[in-house]
Amino acid sequence: MAYSQSEIRQILDSENVKFLRLQFTDIMGMNKNVELPVSQFDKALDGEIMFDGSSIEGFTRIEESDMLLKPDFDTFLIFPTLVEGDARGKVARLICDIAYPDDTPFPGDPRYVLKRQIEKLQGMGFDNMYAGPEPEFFLFWRDHEGRPTTVTHDAAGYFDLAPVDKGEEARRDMVNALVEMGFEIEAAHHEVAPGQHEIDFKYEDALTTADNISTFKLIVKRIAINHNLHATFMPKPVAGINGSGMHTHLSLFKDGQNAFYDEGAEYQLSDTALHWIAGLLEHAEGMVALTNPTVNSYKRLTPGYEAPTNIAWSASNRSAMIRIPARRGVGTRSELRMPDPACNPYLALSAMLAAGMDGIANRLMPPPPIQRNIYHMSVRDRRKHKIRELPGTLREAINALEKDPVIKSALGEHAYSHFVEAKRQEFDAYRVTVHEWELDTYLAEY
Ligand code: GLN
Ligand code: MG
Ligand code: MG
Ligand code: MG
Repeated sequence: MAYSQSEIRQILDSENVKFLRLQFTDIMGMNKNVELPVSQFDKALDGEIMFDGSSIEGFTRIEESDMLLKPDFDTFLIFPTLVEGDARGKVARLICDIAYPDDTPFPGDPRYVLKRQIEKLQGMGFDNMYAGPEPEFFLFWRDHEGRPTTVTHDAAGYFDLAPVDKGEEARRDMVNALVEMGFEIEAAHHEVAPGQHEIDFKYEDALTTADNISTFKLIVKRIAINHNLHATFMPKPVAGINGSGMHTHLSLFKDGQNAFYDEGAEYQLSDTALHWIAGLLEHAEGMVALTNPTVNSYKRLTPGYEAPTNIAWSASNRSAMIRIPARRGVGTRSELRMPDPACNPYLALSAMLAAGMDGIANRLMPPPPIQRNIYHMSVRDRRKHKIRELPGTLREAINALEKDPVIKSALGEHAYSHFVEAKRQEFDAYRVTVHEWELDTYLAEY
């Protein structure tokens, strides 16, 4: 919805909104917000609310810490009572861009990183990139102190119509709340693993989708609490069963038409689509730190759990990193299957855009699609088809990002250096820990 500042001011009054939340995400993709009472509404809408950037992960040093929150009026909404309750008055929110005190955009703001990539795409003559995500998550019980567990009481599976359990009830509340907030929900279903769910919402332009993913995570977590459940977007919370991915469907539009569709071409895919696919393949290693940013992400990207482990594309097979769904015409798109919902959606979509645009700019061509199940191919077979492996750990992923100038420059120096530094620390903290598995395997044996 497009609102003007004065329209929002009127709605805040007429709806008797008591709190206004100014929202943004840090480099890690965590939702941050400042909540303001009525007396500050005008100042907030004028973009004059300051916050201390040095206390936000990946933002600034103490010496240059004053930052402004610039609300994007298109993101205005009032939280439904399912989310915020009514007792203390209505709560509205605006997603913000971050600026320095002199109003210039802060280059390390993930939302600004994505805006720069979209601008570049538009400079190449495209209208926009459209993105439709399929976020998966687990619903677990909380213990007596409210701490999350990995226990689920549900034994349903993919698309199962089980007797309605607590998880299903919670999922319905999530869908209802999201619909009230203007989301168009295309599907909501039980996933393969016990306690695992998926809610798909309609594709939008890249920026709107990144905003939507952030909001989605917030709402899902919040509603789960109302049901004494914990919703987690951790990619692989339980070993031995499927993890949670966030397949992302991508297409480009030019002059209002789908630029991936070419009726007469092989696979009915345009050259633009082929270049795009080739770009995503070329930069897969370099972008995976952004699409799969945690130590745990790489425990999902293992064979046998419907998550990709190899860099290949396919017109149908779901073991490939990129799948081309059967839809053609306006729905022609590429489905990128390695991202997981722990990613910062702004940075992940920026990386995808940068990779695809590089494919288009350099007219890269992909190898032929792999139609077989890649999990079942021998190492020799994969080598013959030049199928590379995705990085196996966060450390390999960070190393690959450091070697990829295209993805690096898409992030910009500020976001890039803060991201890599934080992720190296994360991996090192993991590396020096002695894990349960090591004790089980070595303690008695040696
Ligand atoms: N959960 C699987 C993954 O990790 C995807 C399963 C599916 O949607 N078919 O990617
Ligand atoms: Mg799905
Ligand atoms: Mg799924
Ligand atoms: Mg899918």
